[in-house]
Amino acid sequence: LLTDEGVPVPTIFAEMSALAARTGALNLGQGFPDDDPPAPVVAAAHTAIASGRNQYPPGRGEPELLAAIADHQARWYGIRLDPDAEILVTAGATEALAAAVLALVDGPDDEIVVFEPYYDAYAALAALSGARLITVPLRWPAFQPDLDELRAAVTDRTRIILVNDPHNPTGAVFDPEVGAEIIRLAHRHDAIIVTDEVYEHLTFDRPHVPLASRAGAFERTLTISSAGKTFSATGWKVGWISGPRELVGAVLAVKQWLTYVNAGPFQPAVAVGLRLPDEAYAAITGRLRAGRDAIGAGLRAAGFDVSTPSGSYFTVADAAPLGATDAAEFCRELADRAGVVAIPLTAFASDAHRRHYSTLVRFAACKRPEVLADASARLAAAF
Ligand code: GLN
Repeated sequence: LLTDEGVPVPTIFAEMSALAARTGALNLGQGFPDDDPPAPVVAAAHTAIASGRNQYPPGRGEPELLAAIADHQARWYGIRLDPDAEILVTAGATEALAAAVLALVDGPDDEIVVFEPYYDAYAALAALSGARLITVPLRWPAFQPDLDELRAAVTDRTRIILVNDPHNPTGAVFDPEVGAEIIRLAHRHDAIIVTDEVYEHLTFDRPHVPLASRAGAFERTLTISSAGKTFSATGWKVGWISGPRELVGAVLAVKQWLTYVNAGPFQPAVAVGLRLPDEAYAAITGRLRAGRDAIGAGLRAAGFDVSTPSGSYFTVADAAPLGATDAAEFCRELADRAGVVAIPLTAFASDAHRRHYSTLVRFAACKRPEVLADASARLAAAF
């Protein structure tokens, strides 16, 4: 978390967004959209602020948001939740992840199993909690785990199997057999499943299936999501976590000492978002699918090998055909050479498995069509 000189190590997102700002390059690095939340959601936030909803909300969350989350989980996934006991609103998915890990990890003998490359916060949270991070590598280009490697990673020391699906940074949506194996292993080794589903509405091939909706999973699963990605509101930091009451209670016990509560006036606005009609969700997914197709075509035309993501904001490309040998160096040069910023997959990798990702680069597709067309033109001109 700190350099040898005692300075905080900037996250890869901070570093690459600063590079984009410094060079004036198009920022396809940090995953944030360049459009606004749906109009009714923005209007609801204005109304909440203007009508005086500016003080601490209740500790668990505003009742209308808790009810909207419960209805959302029933509507899309058939999961029935008690809004007064089985849901907690958090400061983004990030706080839900932090509070869950801190609540569940007992000490340095506990292990957290994740797929690799992993969202950078997972390694930081393992470090903060004192747990060991055990990683199962996902390999180009399909990024599905090897089930034998998964089985080898989960043991009686495993406290948490942390599953991000749809997956950042690879864009993978895991095959149903992967979920079935995770549930079996969690039972066999008495582990808790924590799922990070922030891209739940951004899948391109088939609807998202939460692990908690599958047989035998709910009792040992904490499900996390966020308004940030679905509603293009990453700055609002409204997330939530749901599951059996004892587990959610343990997370609430930690959350109340982290932030206590968060995002008062944005909570009713997110409730409006969660109740948007199916067509509004289809429009959100459709826009991102078009973005994925546009950046995929642009990268291919520039000479990259491109993997086709099934979900998330991201597309991974292999820069080896362009002569790259080191993704981090390639990304640093790309800002000047092409005027485009992207993120090396090595930033999401452990020392043990970094070699699998040495020439792979993540591009964010959550941008307006003209921005993606501009990026494609710049990449085509640069190579
Ligand atoms: N989740 C976003 C990404 O992966 C950014 C998150 C962040 O900046 N911490 O790009």
